[in-house]
Amino acid sequence: MPSPPDVVIIGAGAAGLMCALTAGYAGRRVLVLDHANKAGKKILMSGGGRCNFTNLATSPANFFSANPHFCISALKRYRPEHFVELVERHGLEYVEKAPGQLFCAHSAKELLAILLTECDWAGVEIRLKTAIEGVERHSEGMRLRTSDGVIDTGALVVATGGLSIPTLGASGFGYDLARQFGLTVTETRPALVPFTLTSQWKARAEALAGVACEVAVSCREGHYREPLLFTHRGLSGPAMLQISSYWQPGDDLAIALLPGVDAFAALVAARRESPRRQLGTWLAERLPKRLAQALIDWHGGDGILAERSNAELEAWARHLNEWRIKPAGTEGWRTAEVTLGGVDTRAISSKTFAVEGLPQLRFIGEVLDVTGELGGYNFQWAWASGVACGNAL
Ligand code: FAD
Repeated sequence: MPSPPDVVIIGAGAAGLMCALTAGYAGRRVLVLDHANKAGKKILMSGGGRCNFTNLATSPANFFSANPHFCISALKRYRPEHFVELVERHGLEYVEKAPGQLFCAHSAKELLAILLTECDWAGVEIRLKTAIEGVERHSEGMRLRTSDGVIDTGALVVATGGLSIPTLGASGFGYDLARQFGLTVTETRPALVPFTLTSQWKARAEALAGVACEVAVSCREGHYREPLLFTHRGLSGPAMLQISSYWQPGDDLAIALLPGVDAFAALVAARRESPRRQLGTWLAERLPKRLAQALIDWHGGDGILAERSNAELEAWARHLNEWRIKPAGTEGWRTAEVTLGGVDTRAISSKTFAVEGLPQLRFIGEVLDVTGELGGYNFQWAWASGVACGNAL
């Protein structure tokens, strides 16, 4: 790069690349720095390697933030259809795996290649394996000390993401920098993360590892109806990942294994209609066989329905649809998909993403206190915040 960059972006992830290509096309000289040896590592491993890159139904209601209105403007200005238009222009094949959730049909590598091609066309320079050693104000702009020397720039965009999966390059750098410039960072905790269990339940889950079924799960104000997956460590699957954003240590989860069914009424009807049917048979018609057998083992033996009193059937209805379980914890940053909390958005412009009173410093993407539910919302936030900031640079 012959002359100093107009813009330096720290973080070659989803938000940083999107911001870079937008600002590059607007005529800015853009330099992206990343300490990792590869750009977009989270894109590559997201969605099981196929990246759930957006959700067509994205709305502000899909996000958690101490300042819930902050995300509205950027999400309105850059919508899922805009990103779909971009990838279609490059011929990306994609599939709608669940309503609204778009995934690459083949590999997330294709999506990352599109972003890198766009950055290239927009004249963006990406410098990897570059450590940022310090940042300070410098005349009207910012000065960075890096492992590659001193870099002066008119504007600095922080797109360093959250704390999840440190082996992919995650760091608390963005939060430290925010604090250095007087910003508040709201409490951060891992989210979209599986639960671990204590000994008795851990052993039970371990024995059922691989079994999945649709459940309804509730915790605090959160309610989801999605699949639950038993694992060697505890409870996972979309239902558990989603509810982890509401869960606090010490909370119970309330799980219905037969969602939408009045279990007591159904059991009474089954006893009337087929009194000689085994309870285990009835359960196995509605639940995975291994889970049905495990429920019989946990709660006291099989037998024909005719031998069950109303009180027993009521107890079974509770076992099925009012299962309360207290997780020991979560798997933490090692496997969490996102970080709840982050740089407090109350001192950030929702239009330009600049820090109030310090327009040469901006924050975008997951480093901010804006966190989506599971289903492609987090990438849509990365794209939308990146574009809004890139257009304003
Ligand atoms: P990131 O993509 O995390 O990028 C941050 C970049 O900053 C990284 O390249 C990192 O190396 C760099 N960086 C960090 N610290 C420093 C530093 N100190 N110096 C220099 N560079 C630094 N979301 C979805 O919407 N759909 C999905 O299918 C999905 N699946 C996921 C699966 C997994 C396993 C994980 C972990 C996350 C998934 N997410 C998904 C969430 C999504 O990946 C993130 O929300 C999104 O990547 C955030 O984008 P970002 O650009 O803000 O941060």
